[in-house]
Amino acid sequence: MRTNFPINKFHNIKTPFYYYDSGLLRDTLNIIYKETTKYKNYCIHYAIKANSNPKILKIISQYGFGADCVSGGEIQAAIDAGFPPSKIVYAGVGKSDWEINLGLDNNIFCFNVESTAELEVINTLASQRNKVANVAFRINPNIGAHTHANITTGLAENKFGIAMDDLEKTIEISTRLKNISVIGLHFHIGSQILDMDDFKALSNRINDLQCRLKQHGIVLPNINVGGGLGINYEHPDIEPIPDFAGYFSTYAKHLRILPDQKVHFELGRSVVGQCGTLITRLLYVKNGSYKKFAIVDAGMTDLIRPALYHAYHKIENISSNEEVETYDIVGPICESSDVFAKSIEINKCHRGDIIAIRSAGAYGEVMASQYNCRELPKGYITEEL
Ligand SMILES: *Cc1c(COP(=O)(O)O)cnc(C)c1O
Repeated sequence: MRTNFPINKFHNIKTPFYYYDSGLLRDTLNIIYKETTKYKNYCIHYAIKANSNPKILKIISQYGFGADCVSGGEIQAAIDAGFPPSKIVYAGVGKSDWEINLGLDNNIFCFNVESTAELEVINTLASQRNKVANVAFRINPNIGAHTHANITTGLAENKFGIAMDDLEKTIEISTRLKNISVIGLHFHIGSQILDMDDFKALSNRINDLQCRLKQHGIVLPNINVGGGLGINYEHPDIEPIPDFAGYFSTYAKHLRILPDQKVHFELGRSVVGQCGTLITRLLYVKNGSYKKFAIVDAGMTDLIRPALYHAYHKIENISSNEEVETYDIVGPICESSDVFAKSIEINKCHRGDIIAIRSAGAYGEVMASQYNCRELPKGYITEEL
C-alpha cells in the first residue's frame, strides 16, 4: 500500500478519474528547466498531445517553454493556456487548410512540413495572407527506435516525414516558393525510448545530413530532434523523474551544432507521464474457471494503452494491506481486450477498494473515448481535492 496518495479525499470523488500530482509535475519541470539552462542553445517545447488537460497546460506554460502541436485544436489549446505563439511548432502528415490558416493567423514559430504537396499548400495559403511561413522539413531518418512497433515513427516504412534522399530536391523546390522560408530540419523517431544509443544514432544521422547540406552551401538555423524520452513504468516510485541530465548530455555529446544553431526538443511523455494516476474502484471479484478477475469501474475507454499497445502500467490496491493474491484486472467494456493486466499480484481485493493505475499521465486522459455511452473521465490536480 502506498501512503502518499491523498486516499481519504479520493473517497468523495466519482470514479474513475485521473489524479495529477502537481507537485511531481512541478519538480519535473524544474529539473528540465535547470538542465536546459546548462546549454545556451537548447529550446524546449511541450508536446501537447501527451496531455492537453487545461490545468496541466496552465502549469507547464508557466515555465516559459514552447508547445509542439499536431492539430489546429492543439494550437488553440496551447494558445488558450498561455503558450506564446512565437514558440509553437506544428507537425503532422495531414494538416487541413483551416489548421494551416490558424497557424498563419497566429504567426506560429514553425510548420514542420512532411511533404512537398503540403509545402505548396502552405505557400498558397500564406500568399493569400501576404505572409511568409517559417517551415522546417521533417526528415524520416530511417532509424528504428527500440520501442513498441506501433510507436516507432522514424523508419522508411512509416508514414511520417520526407525521405532523406529527397532533402536537397525539397529545399530546391522551396526556394521557388515566395511565401516559404526554410528555417530548419525536424526529426522524431518514436516514443518511450530508453536506450540513449537511439538518440546517439539520430545525432549521427543529423550530422551526416548537415555535412551534405553544407556542401550545397546550406546552413539552417534550427535543428529539432523531436521527443521520445521514455519513463519507468515498472518503478514509478524509484524513478518518478526521467534522467533528463543523461538525455540532454547525449545530444550535447553527439550532435554537432554550428555556433548559431538552436536545438529544439519536443518532450511529451517524459514531462507528464509519471504525475498521472487513473483512480478506479473495484466493483466485483469474480472467480473464473482458471482465474480470479478483479473487475474495476475504469475501462479501455478511460485508458487505452494496455489494449492498444499491450502497455504495462503498475497497478496497486491502495485500500488494502492484506496479503497479495493473483488477479486479472479488467474493465467493464464489452471488448475482450479491455484488460489492464493479466495475472498480477496485488493486495487482496474487496468490493469498494480503490485501485491506482500508475504512470498514466501521458496518452491517458487525452485518448479517452465515450464508447459504450460512457462519460469521459475527469482529471483533478492536487490543489483541487
Ligand atoms: C508525439 C510527438 C512528440 C512527443 O513524443 P513523446 O514520446 O511523448 O516525448 C514529439 N514530437 C512529435 C512530432 C510528436 O508527434
